[in-house]
Amino acid sequence: MTQLNSDKQAECVQTSNSELPKTLPVTPSAIPTRRRPSREPRHAMANQPAEERISNFQEVALGYTLEQARAEAERCLQCKNAPCEAGCPVEVRIHDFISAIIDNDLPEAVAILKERNALPAVCGRVCPQESQCEATCVLARRGEPVAIGRLERFLADWDRQRPEEERNKTRLAPCKHKRIAVIGSGPAGLAAAGELSLRGYYVEVFEALHSPGGVLAYGIPEFRLPNYILEDEVEALRQARVTFHMNAPIGTVASCEELLDEGFNAVFIGVGAGLPKFMDIPGENLNGVYSANEFLTRVNLMHAYEFPRWDTPVQRGRQVVVIGGGNVAMDAARTALRLGAEEVTLAYRRTQAEMPARIEEVEHAIEEGVKLVELASPLEVVGQDGWVTGLRLQKMELGRADASGRRRPIPVEGEEYVHPADTVVSAIGTLANPHLREVADVDINQWGYLSVGEDGQTSNPRIFAGGDIVTGSATVIEAMGAGKSAAIAIDELLSAPDVQTQRRMT
Ligand code: FAD
Ligand code: SF4
Repeated sequence: MTQLNSDKQAECVQTSNSELPKTLPVTPSAIPTRRRPSREPRHAMANQPAEERISNFQEVALGYTLEQARAEAERCLQCKNAPCEAGCPVEVRIHDFISAIIDNDLPEAVAILKERNALPAVCGRVCPQESQCEATCVLARRGEPVAIGRLERFLADWDRQRPEEERNKTRLAPCKHKRIAVIGSGPAGLAAAGELSLRGYYVEVFEALHSPGGVLAYGIPEFRLPNYILEDEVEALRQARVTFHMNAPIGTVASCEELLDEGFNAVFIGVGAGLPKFMDIPGENLNGVYSANEFLTRVNLMHAYEFPRWDTPVQRGRQVVVIGGGNVAMDAARTALRLGAEEVTLAYRRTQAEMPARIEEVEHAIEEGVKLVELASPLEVVGQDGWVTGLRLQKMELGRADASGRRRPIPVEGEEYVHPADTVVSAIGTLANPHLREVADVDINQWGYLSVGEDGQTSNPRIFAGGDIVTGSATVIEAMGAGKSAAIAIDELLSAPDVQTQRRMT
């Protein structure tokens, strides 16, 4: 067993909560403007110290101060062609909002950011910027890119602390007197709703759960994305003519076709792909085995972490093994630690270098004491009297690269061992829900996901779709990008003369 290691820990500055300003200053003009790009290294962001945060669910990363944000913005070269923007699926005008920060015009910077991103405080916290806008920043070629995500988060947080009457309001187009139904309130649905309301439509969101946000609410824990941040961004949509219907599973209460018959002019489906993949190994039904989705939903959405205020049953394991190497596995492992586990181990069939999780999340898990068993694949959950006592693991080695470009894990003959555990959490991915067929009578591909054209149009010209239910598990910003481009396509379709008959799918 190896303790996770990382060569990027210098990025993480640990600061006690008490040393940080409680509110961000709202008078930026006090700081003089500088135009020549600074040569300073990328500015670190303060974090709650690991030893403190493993016993609470408060946010780990604490954000930039105004001074740090200004200093980081001044690293930007203000490139004419702004290659960073090509890396952003919702096409935020990054160059311009950074320029407004440099100019001390934070209200303008917020307005630019919000014009294309309906959830900036969420994206600033959970987007994998290192593989998107920051990957295409010119400074990334020679060293460290501008910390675009941290600046985005800073602006959204600064805006939230302004008096309500001063806060940036979305500029809505005149009302078009047309209604759009959005199915699912994850990032795809929220982005579609935001864009459609901006364009003058009445939008009604139908959500199966009692709380909006999709994975942002039930999957990503509070220590990465506090609920109040999501609630604030949902509230901004409510104020922009978006109505939310909770506990409204489409396919049960009505189908998409019935919604169209009831007078909706178009429908956007963003129901995600939340059906857990199972390991298909013996012992999977023992008490103490969870899918990551169930484990995280019990803790986040059903507040198990607030025991005894909320009496949601969840096993608080002493020895927890999480299987997987993505963001979901990191969230499950770090959640188990915070619930009081003595030892949390990640079992991953490749090595740390191949882990698909965000680098920052792996680093944070390391600091918190999560252990990694590399090159290990589950063979059997071992148990006694119906309860988990361990996980039999198969030792693997890396072979040639597979279609994903990562080296394929191959079993090492005869090398098996049992890792002791009282709780096993499986985070090996999710699938589309077969219930999808009742949601809408549209084409579904061989893997069970919705088939769409480039702009998200399904085989029914008035039903569009985007996010994980089209692509399979992806990222928040990709789901948002799909929701937004489908919204633009819906607007084009409904602005065309022969809406009823048009068939644009290629
Ligand atoms: P979802 O977020 O799944 O939302 C779909 C919504 O539709 C849900 O609220 C669901 O209840 C609702 N719904 C389903 N069926 C119906 C129905 N029939 N009627 C009405 N409503 C319905 N991505 C990142 O970029 N960064 C991260 O750090 C990150 N961490 C993650 C951590 C976890 C634990 C998980 C699970 C995922 C993570 N992801 C991350 C991936 C990202 O969250 C997803 O790619 C994204 O949420 C997909 O958005 P979506 O809107 O398509 O679906
Ligand atoms: Fe600034 Fe990087 Fe974008 Fe150039 S690519 S404008 S340096 S953020």
